[in-house]
Amino acid sequence: MQLTRVIAQPDLPMLDPFLLLDEFGSDKPGDYLAGFPDHPHRGFETVTYLLAGRMRHRDNQGNSGLLTPGSVQWMTAGSGIVHSEMPEQENGLLRGFQLWVNLPAADKMTAPRYQDIAPERIPEVESAGANVRVVAGSYGGVTGPVNGIATEPLYLDVKLDAGARFETAVAGSHNAFVYVYDGAARIGDATLGRGDLAVLTAGDAISVEATEPAALLVVAGKPLGEPVARYGPIVMNTRAELERAFEDLREGRF
Ligand code: MN
Repeated sequence: MQLTRVIAQPDLPMLDPFLLLDEFGSDKPGDYLAGFPDHPHRGFETVTYLLAGRMRHRDNQGNSGLLTPGSVQWMTAGSGIVHSEMPEQENGLLRGFQLWVNLPAADKMTAPRYQDIAPERIPEVESAGANVRVVAGSYGGVTGPVNGIATEPLYLDVKLDAGARFETAVAGSHNAFVYVYDGAARIGDATLGRGDLAVLTAGDAISVEATEPAALLVVAGKPLGEPVARYGPIVMNTRAELERAFEDLREGRF
């Protein structure tokens, strides 16, 4: 699968509690038909938010789900699953994001949990020149459907007309980023274009102004401040836990 790695690359290895952000998007089947065949996860959460196309999820416990445009899957991998994420289309546009959210040490071996959320369950807040879909956390007096997440995340999909402004409060102790996936927007003195990520300095508010029609992800969460031992799709606190994880995987204990 062709993708753009936004977080988890040399310039930004992670932004506690966020371990990775990928954008995928193509209308060329050759870029996406390979999908993500069977692979494991342990110790964190994967959040898949689809803008266009259809993606089928299947795991080794018999769970299955279909992501459609505007839907989200918040998967708490916990103690471990093996799953595949495959396009359920042979042509047309497939576009979306996957965010990895770390789990606190105390929750890394929790039972796996899925929150599969259909598009119509994600509330939208409309204001002058702005449409905000609330996936997780609260905005404009509306709370998103994702619940029970240790890092108290805010996950908003914000669409702005040219010249429109978006503002929201955010917990001052949380880390936050804005990812512009279409158009352009200004944050403070910085102008961001498509594919640009803004890592926000500490503060209690986020303010963005669209300089042309723009679409952006606004995400924040409570940093864990714990050691991170990661290798590929497994994220633990210590090297010994990583080794145990790969042993468990080999022995079929996921
Ligand atoms: Mn996966």
